[in-house]
Amino acid sequence: MDIIVIQPDTPDENIRHILKKLESKGLHANVSRGTERTIIGVIGDTSKVTEDEEDAIRAMTGVENVLRILKPYKLASLEFKKTPSEIDVDGIVIGGNKIQVMAGPCSVENRAGLINIAEKVKEAGATFLRGGAFKPRTSPYSFQGLGEEGLQFLVEAKLKTGLRIITELMDPRDLDVIMKYTDIIQIGTRNMQNFRLLLEVGGVDKPVLLKRGLSATIKEWLMSAEYIMSKGNQKVMLCERGIRTFETATRNTLDLSAIPVLKQLTHLPVVVDPSHGVGRWDLVAPMSRAAVAAGADALIIEVHPNPEEALSDGEQSLKPNIFAQLMKELKPVAQAVGREI
Ligand code: PEP
Ligand code: MN
Repeated sequence: MDIIVIQPDTPDENIRHILKKLESKGLHANVSRGTERTIIGVIGDTSKVTEDEEDAIRAMTGVENVLRILKPYKLASLEFKKTPSEIDVDGIVIGGNKIQVMAGPCSVENRAGLINIAEKVKEAGATFLRGGAFKPRTSPYSFQGLGEEGLQFLVEAKLKTGLRIITELMDPRDLDVIMKYTDIIQIGTRNMQNFRLLLEVGGVDKPVLLKRGLSATIKEWLMSAEYIMSKGNQKVMLCERGIRTFETATRNTLDLSAIPVLKQLTHLPVVVDPSHGVGRWDLVAPMSRAAVAAGADALIIEVHPNPEEALSDGEQSLKPNIFAQLMKELKPVAQAVGREI
């Protein structure tokens, strides 16, 4: 028993009664009130519920049906929620008809530089400013980010441009400070299976962009989304950012087939990061066009005014004029698949 479908117009009192019953069995619930149907997602080890117990719940007032989900993830599954999720980030919707573009430097490096990039990407049509203040670097001797000061610069750039902000959280100890500043919390590829971190962001009311792990399968990735959702936060988007393969011509292999695969499995919005996916600026534009054609709901792209001088990921960062050119090229592609950008 994973999903309880409630009859239309069932009074709240009856729903509360069903929830109490679940609690008495050590289970929790996620109530999703749609326009036509209310659905209760049962959270916990539902395999221990016997058939008799399931029948008893089926017989309760207000219950239309009790279903089992065959997938190991539930709240994230398309079986649980059949319509695509739209995540409203302070008025900007991810997962709707309009494809959103997040752009900015890999790392927040300094105040003036960030504001300059923000103004340029905004002018080109981006709706979010990206930039890491806490950086997950392969070497402990590489630039690690500006920390809270970097977050303050992001907010300043937001106030100047109206762009929303996305930035990475690496450690639960930084959650409170990140919550004060950001509009979307990014969970990086190296933390996709940091389950404590996932549970922490599951407990807050803030959209989360969950990057695919370096070598994670789509199923493992969806299970990580489930970790977040199981704690109550349903505002999760999945970001394909390339996976490890034997190929060395590109930094990673951008798995574009993940987009249509995810669309068959989950209602969560799909974001594509071509920058980390290929690791070379000259391949970012074709892969962005391909991602839009394949059904991505948003793109996240690294942009830097002077990539040779960037403190991280310069080799994959677009100069602002090339980014602006790409934004123009994306329009007819989006149109061809019935979307706008
Ligand atoms: C980033 O967005 O700069 C980043 C570190 O991404 P990833 O976690 O995908 O490597
Ligand atoms: Mn980067």
